Amino acid sequence: MGSTPDVYTTLKEQLKGSGAEVLMPDDGEKYEQSIKRWSEHCEKRAACVVKATSPADVSTTLSFIRAHKIPFVVRGGGHSTSGSASIEGGLVIDLSLMRRVSVDPEKRTVRAEGGAIWEDVDVEAAKFGLATVGGTVNHTGVGGLTLGGGYGYLTGKYGLTIDNLLSVDMVLASGEQVTASETENADLFWAVRGAGQNFGVVTAFTFRGYPQANPVYAGTLIFLPDKLPQIVEFANKFHDKNDGNQALLWGFSCPPPDNAPVVLAQCFHNGTEDEGAAFFKELVDAGPVANMIAMVPYEKLNSLLNPAAGFDGRKMFGGGAFKLPLNPAFVQALHADFLDFVNAHERMGESLLLFETIPYAKVVGVPNEKMAFSNRGNYYNVATCFKWFDAKLDDEIRAFSRSLLKKASQTAGVAQDEAVRAVEGVGQYGNYATDADVPASEIYGSNAKRLEELKHKYDPDNLFNRGTRLVPRQLVVVN
Ligand SMILES: Cc1cc2nc3c(=O)[nH]c(=O)nc-3n(C[C@H](O)[C@H](O)[C@H](O)COP(=O)(O)OP(=O)(O)OC[C@H]3O[C@@H](n4cnc5c(N)ncnc54)[C@H](O)[C@@H]3O)c2cc1C
Repeated sequence: MGSTPDVYTTLKEQLKGSGAEVLMPDDGEKYEQSIKRWSEHCEKRAACVVKATSPADVSTTLSFIRAHKIPFVVRGGGHSTSGSASIEGGLVIDLSLMRRVSVDPEKRTVRAEGGAIWEDVDVEAAKFGLATVGGTVNHTGVGGLTLGGGYGYLTGKYGLTIDNLLSVDMVLASGEQVTASETENADLFWAVRGAGQNFGVVTAFTFRGYPQANPVYAGTLIFLPDKLPQIVEFANKFHDKNDGNQALLWGFSCPPPDNAPVVLAQCFHNGTEDEGAAFFKELVDAGPVANMIAMVPYEKLNSLLNPAAGFDGRKMFGGGAFKLPLNPAFVQALHADFLDFVNAHERMGESLLLFETIPYAKVVGVPNEKMAFSNRGNYYNVATCFKWFDAKLDDEIRAFSRSLLKKASQTAGVAQDEAVRAVEGVGQYGNYATDADVPASEIYGSNAKRLEELKHKYDPDNLFNRGTRLVPRQLVVVN
């Protein structure tokens, strides 16, 4: 393996004049900034970071990687908590200089480069009165979120981010630049929608845009924990009452400055103030200690949760599923478990357990075999996002997150049988399953087999092997 600094000097030469930046540890602050990630525990000291500016830079870098057998990762927005976008000693293909977004108002399409963040998309699309299904925190990357599926406030109306993906421009392991869509490299497009990070570097995404009224009704209600039963009752009614234009993200935290336990409810209605107020009346009347709901410009919607998603500390996402109605006593027991754990450790108050009540009728309107993504079922996602500062707690937190999610997912009744899960949904959102122990079959159900075949076709040497659970068919070890 030729991953010595001399090798990277050769790469620097090859990329000279292209616009790409090639950074190494002796490049000081620029290098230090380039290895920063949303979660501190994903920051690793790469031997070389290539900040690409074009598909050609990516292709040159991949050819170099192949020739010198260099371990590498791809960095989109840098938000995954699995560590799959950072590497100790290897090379990072960093897409953060590729954030241009362009809109075709006639065709109502939005094209975003592979390193764009959702803020780039929301702001540019809004200039044309359009929106697409983006993430609920706008500094998250378009890349990782889209390739893993993508849920947002507009999911109730338009489905997942991938349901609105029209095509991708990609650089494959071979260095070849291709386009994938329903009509071009359709098998690759099938794989990209749910498992894309295993198949190449996406240099541009083209999404369907929708006319978006402005402003929208949205914001956070903060309750003391004694109101939890009323919030659960509201969520139970939400299930039947919503018409796809609403979303409700609710859960537990102990935020600073005083780190006292609270129950948060993030409310969204895509419509007028009167409609929103009527829909959420019962929740607002339940007596929050703070009410931050307002009419906000659509392009600001995905920034409302940014303060709860700061860049400091170690963090880990985990995912499961739940069904409504929920029994308030069951949720109170989960809350007690959460608080016991958080209170027993220092500086964990910003951790979250979140019940993502995003209407799923549109999501399940697409069968699980239609694309690689396999988490379409009659249930909602539940997510943990633990935040801590002491590296010694990493393993303990991972184990607790797993056990809490198992308990929280009891109501989902996700089938154990793989064939049934394939139809009814796996009950696990891949982008939240950042625990490396979660196998491919749990994320992709029976789609995993086809993915192994396609991996053999598009990445036979398993170049894209970091933080992914799929291996090409001929490399699968049969016990
Ligand atoms: C604060 C926060 C809020 C979130 N909110 C939501 C939400 O509302 N909805 C939702 O669905 N998910 C949400 N997520 C989860 C999110 O989808 C994942 O964390 C996702 O991995 C983030 O993508 P990224 O590009 O920022 O991450 P990165 O860490 O850069 O990338 C994640 C993975 O994708 C690969 N990758 C990224 N870009 C490309 C590319 N262009 N080509 C090839 N591979 C690429 C990377 O190699 C890596 O394996 C949230 C996460 C955070 C931290």
